[in-house]
Amino acid sequence: MSMKEFQFEAIKQKISTLTAQKESFYGKKYQGLHAEDIKDQKDFEALPFTDKDELREAYPLGLMAVPEKEIVRIHSSSGTTGTPIIIPYTRQDVEDWAQMFKRCYETAGITPMDRIHITPGYGLWTAGIGFQTGAELLGAMVIPMGPGNTDKQLKMMMDMKSTVLCATSSYALLLAEEIARRGIKDKICLKKGVIGSERWGEKMRRRIANELGVELYDIYGLTEIYGPGIAINCDCQSGMHYWDDYMYFEIINPRTGEVLPEGEMGELVITTFRKEGAPLIRYRTHDLTRILPGECPCGRKYPRIDTIIGRTDDMVKVKGVNIYPGQIDSLLKDVEGASSEYQVMIDHLNGKDILTLFVEADSSYDKKVVEHNLATLFKTRIGITIVPKVVDIGDLPRSEKKSTRIYDNRY
Ligand code: ZN
Repeated sequence: MSMKEFQFEAIKQKISTLTAQKESFYGKKYQGLHAEDIKDQKDFEALPFTDKDELREAYPLGLMAVPEKEIVRIHSSSGTTGTPIIIPYTRQDVEDWAQMFKRCYETAGITPMDRIHITPGYGLWTAGIGFQTGAELLGAMVIPMGPGNTDKQLKMMMDMKSTVLCATSSYALLLAEEIARRGIKDKICLKKGVIGSERWGEKMRRRIANELGVELYDIYGLTEIYGPGIAINCDCQSGMHYWDDYMYFEIINPRTGEVLPEGEMGELVITTFRKEGAPLIRYRTHDLTRILPGECPCGRKYPRIDTIIGRTDDMVKVKGVNIYPGQIDSLLKDVEGASSEYQVMIDHLNGKDILTLFVEADSSYDKKVVEHNLATLFKTRIGITIVPKVVDIGDLPRSEKKSTRIYDNRY
């Protein structure tokens, strides 16, 4: 992906401002670097990456790149693995994020006449409030539910005639299943679902779409880079458009750091060139995707990334083969009777790795046949022999949070 002239100039300007403050995060990180020495894209691509660990070390406010009087809010990434990351936002950052989010809703065909039912959480993390400010800027009616309490969710959804559901994929699935179980589908007015913050398979997508009777749009984002709302599907459903007037995207080989050409799968790296409170240069997202070549049939000029197929950290090596969760999603799609819900257990017994794949399947299918087909396809596509175990629909845990599906018990 070649960098556009205005992106290059904006990035250079940003680096110049950041390195001028010797005590700031980038003043220290890029010590000795002069923005005027960055002459082209190649020079930019030689700059060191920024990684999550450095952001953690800057806790609490080490990332703040403007005087405190300009900061209006902070957000924080979930600190499940230790120290959280704090991202300070200026008024302009909050406004820019809302503009990008509004653009996401518009790309999904959502209008000021929609009633937007928001189930992601409010608080330190960026989800709920991002969905809300974007919807308000659009002029739609917000129903700010937050997560949990399925009874209340469904009552409000029916009484308020919500037309758009914003949720994680696992929570959307939980609500869809509950609507089917209670037989209230005809009282639900949803037309669209905006689904964020998780990797999910085509089969799960189809189940949610069918059971809720809605069109679904993947929304992408991460707390470190504004939050959700930096990319979304259009009606063509061929990748997610991202807002290259705010950010520059690169795809790298996660092992070598080498920048990959358009179309190749690798780790997404983002540079923000308009962010003020905590700008990030070459930030490694650890999300695996690719930049889609060519233009979208919808005619929008914004470039596209493919659906996120997994995280570099989720990649597991079994019997010498790298496996991404996204590969399992796409494999399940091609096994008749198998649902999108699965769990992988990896164990080490008698000197050998053993991968057990639990998959929910419709009880009208013969379990033995589904298991045989799963094992055969896994062997031909991914190259290893597995132990398939088919279970009934609903047997595997559902979660309102990001679900973990791969359990590595070897270490
Ligand atoms: Zn498009």
